[in-house]
Amino acid sequence: MDWSERIRQLHENSFGYLDLLIARPGDLGELIDLACKGDTAAERIADALSDMLTIVGRGSHRNPTPCTGCNRPLRPGKYAVVMAHPAAMVTAGDIIGMAFCSRCSRTTEATQRQATAALRRIWPDARLARL
Ligand SMILES: [Zn+2]
Repeated sequence: MDWSERIRQLHENSFGYLDLLIARPGDLGELIDLACKGDTAAERIADALSDMLTIVGRGSHRNPTPCTGCNRPLRPGKYAVVMAHPAAMVTAGDIIGMAFCSRCSRTTEATQRQATAALRRIWPDARLARL
């Protein structure tokens, strides 16, 4: 499934309302622990975070994965992942992941601002439930 199809599906599943989750690479262990205890939301988030870590990890020194916000190269372990999912439905529907460098994700507010701007670039009608 390509990006435009994933975004279209997310739009349909969310009725236009998204929520954002912010995670750091170091959060994966705790999410997996929660998933192992039966937390289905944590399992979905762990899967999405793991996918994003794999995508960012594919970048090389010569061709690093760029920050979604400013296009600077992401440095290993020094970035945040934002996952957009249908509001109040973290256990269902698609999750779109984005990665932001340490500068763009220096605070929760800055990360939310960058993620909102990135989503609106690809999806101008995006409405964010908690922003
Ligand atoms: Zn950045």
